[in-house]
Amino acid sequence: MKEIYDVIIIGGGPAGLNAAMILGRSRRKVLLFDGGKPRNRWAVSMNGFLSSDGVNPKEFIQKGREELKKYAIQIIDRPVATATYSKGIYVVDDSEGHVFHSRKLLLATGLKDALPEIEGIEELYGKSVHHCPYCDGWESRDKAIAVYGKDRSGIGQALAMKNWSDDVTLYTDGTQKLNRKDMELLELNEVKVCTDAIARVEGKDGMLQHIVLQNGKSKSQQALFFSGETTQQSDIGRQLGCEFTGKGVIKTRRLQKANIPGLYVAGDAARDMQLVIVAAAEGAKAGVAINMELQQEDRETA
Ligand SMILES: Cc1cc2nc3c(=O)[nH]c(=O)nc-3n(C[C@H](O)[C@H](O)[C@H](O)COP(=O)(O)OP(=O)(O)OC[C@H]3O[C@@H](n4cnc5c(N)ncnc54)[C@H](O)[C@@H]3O)c2cc1C
Repeated sequence: MKEIYDVIIIGGGPAGLNAAMILGRSRRKVLLFDGGKPRNRWAVSMNGFLSSDGVNPKEFIQKGREELKKYAIQIIDRPVATATYSKGIYVVDDSEGHVFHSRKLLLATGLKDALPEIEGIEELYGKSVHHCPYCDGWESRDKAIAVYGKDRSGIGQALAMKNWSDDVTLYTDGTQKLNRKDMELLELNEVKVCTDAIARVEGKDGMLQHIVLQNGKSKSQQALFFSGETTQQSDIGRQLGCEFTGKGVIKTRRLQKANIPGLYVAGDAARDMQLVIVAAAEGAKAGVAINMELQQEDRETA
């Protein structure tokens, strides 16, 4: 007879691990798959998580996995290729062709980021090049901050970064779409503007030092923020027929429920603020909700 897990969790970042902890503590039979690519793996520190502020993201995940050992959660370090749902059972195929079954499924598969196409940026990403001011604004406080955004896309972030430094410059990288009102607003808020095309960024030990322009000039900068495109790390939500928002995240209802019976989505893959502590909290919420649904289904009634 085939083995049926209570829950299969796809994704072992903060959302998936916290869900696993709640479900393990609820004595559920849990199988967790992880592809080993948490979104913040480029970062040297994970900030804004009470009691773990500044901890290295890899160490945070390792500690979480250590803590799970006492709850007998089964972990498979392989990506899931496909998932289907039929008549109350989820069927999950891993990347090596093995098949697994469960009553409930939790997607905690996260998002991935597109970096601006600038030579040299990858070496600085997560150290002095960031996208989230709530994650890295404090570490960049009072520095010479560059904000990258083509056309008009960087205006909001440039204004927001004034919260962390008086020295903010918006780079539009060769685009000239800022109108008179934009320029007035930026000037009023003392945001400098550079519309010249960027050739490359230069730094040392991951720390940005210069933005080199195509006209040969070079600007001294110490941190760069951008707000780029994000996409789902996995297409399993689409395979299952989940509803998506216009921003490409999965729509969830109360307690992280998706539009398919027994399917839950937690963390960055779902709609909400994209922070580690929020992902972990959503994982915990989904864990409780899944356990309650299983309790209801298994309860004897008079
Ligand atoms: C550079 C950077 C720095 C950041 N810094 C901070 C910070 O300081 N503080 C903060 O609060 N937030 C920070 N964030 C945001 C934070 O990374 C996310 O909010 C958080 O990781 C979301 O957790 P998650 O569990 O939803 O997804 P993730 O952490 O992305 O984990 C998803 C996991 O699912 C796995 N997966 C995906 N598809 C499959 C599949 N098909 N099969 C099996 N496994 C799969 C992935 O391999 C991954 O391990 C940062 C983000 C970036 C990009």
